[in-house]
Amino acid sequence: MSDVKSVAEQRWFLPKSSLGDLVRKLCEQGYTVIAPVRRDGVITILPITEAADIARGVADEQDGGHYRLHDDPEDKYFRYSVGPDGPKRYFFPPRQKLFTMHVAGDRFEMDTVGPEPPKYAFIGVRPCDLAAIAVQDRVFGIASDQSTFRCETETYYQQTRLQSLLIAVNCTRPGGTCFCDSQNTGPEVTEHHLFDVAMTELRGGFVMRVGSDKGRALIDELPVREPNEAELELEELRLIRAREHMGRSLDPQQARDALAKAVEHPRWDEVAERCLSCGNCTMVCPTCFCSTVTDSSDLASNKVTRHRQWESCHTLAFTYVTSGPSRNNTRSRYRQWLRHKLSTWYEQFGSSGCVGCGRCITWCPVGIDLTEEAAIIAADRTLTTTHRSESEVCS
Ligand code: SF4
Ligand code: SF4
Repeated sequence: MSDVKSVAEQRWFLPKSSLGDLVRKLCEQGYTVIAPVRRDGVITILPITEAADIARGVADEQDGGHYRLHDDPEDKYFRYSVGPDGPKRYFFPPRQKLFTMHVAGDRFEMDTVGPEPPKYAFIGVRPCDLAAIAVQDRVFGIASDQSTFRCETETYYQQTRLQSLLIAVNCTRPGGTCFCDSQNTGPEVTEHHLFDVAMTELRGGFVMRVGSDKGRALIDELPVREPNEAELELEELRLIRAREHMGRSLDPQQARDALAKAVEHPRWDEVAERCLSCGNCTMVCPTCFCSTVTDSSDLASNKVTRHRQWESCHTLAFTYVTSGPSRNNTRSRYRQWLRHKLSTWYEQFGSSGCVGCGRCITWCPVGIDLTEEAAIIAADRTLTTTHRSESEVCS
């Protein structure tokens, strides 16, 4: 048996004082570096130019409809879990110009087509967000799995994604609304994730491993050393502890089966009493992809510009078809959202639409919790209704 470790098994150690070298190297390679930053009371992800910009010495507190940051005596970089936003908005911007056209005689001529795809390097991407990127890759047409539909026109998403670099961080302190362990998407980066480098933060630095040739080339340029036995043991302990401290849990198979049957259920009325149809849950969700387009015309220059912006299945306007809204009450819109996320998504994309990040629970202003809603419906032993798609049950 060979004692030579494969690249996937190999580990490196980057001292904390050298995190700046990593950021500098990425900037030199022409990347716009995106990392977690403390801003306006939340951890958000923004462009940075040095390691000092990354949120440090801060921890979060999350629960249904509740998010707070507090100073943390451990003084680590990544002691918080996901904030309200993630890499999604860099690959699939909340509002994006698609094209501009001008009037030329009796027809329109194209002026510009969208923005140039940027080159992003993300530091601190959590395993749930890596799983969400894989879900969106299927939606926007760059998945390796050819069994799902492909979208040939999403060139901005595809190019931005393919030239991006993903430096992930294993979660050692899951948030109060996290359930990635249930969804098999975290808290540790595994060989099932797409990533370039994965790191686990310890007191003195980061245990690193690589997931791609790009990641390997980056490691070769950093002042890394081999980790010692104690560091590797500590990493393992941190990850075991993280699994034991998930804020929520969900049985995905049970939820899938129960929601497939629960077309008519009294719980939909109860949740509709509380749901505000605000759409927050969809805006923070890393897998939601619904959008709408708006055209604006400038009479002075004879130009028209088309933008695409995120939309939500929770809004009445989004359900509008030629004869009126197809889901004309909160009950039907919440039902569509939950059944799609946890049940019918499998039929459409071959996976769950939920990666267990917990954002929709934290950022719901009234604290509606999908793990609780799914568990209540799954616990109803009287469920017998056979599955029908949402288009068949639209009110
Ligand atoms: S449905 Fe909620 S928990 Fe699941 S991925 Fe979306 S925001 Fe995260
Ligand atoms: S579930 Fe919560 S966040 Fe989602 S639309 Fe209803 S009130 Fe808003």
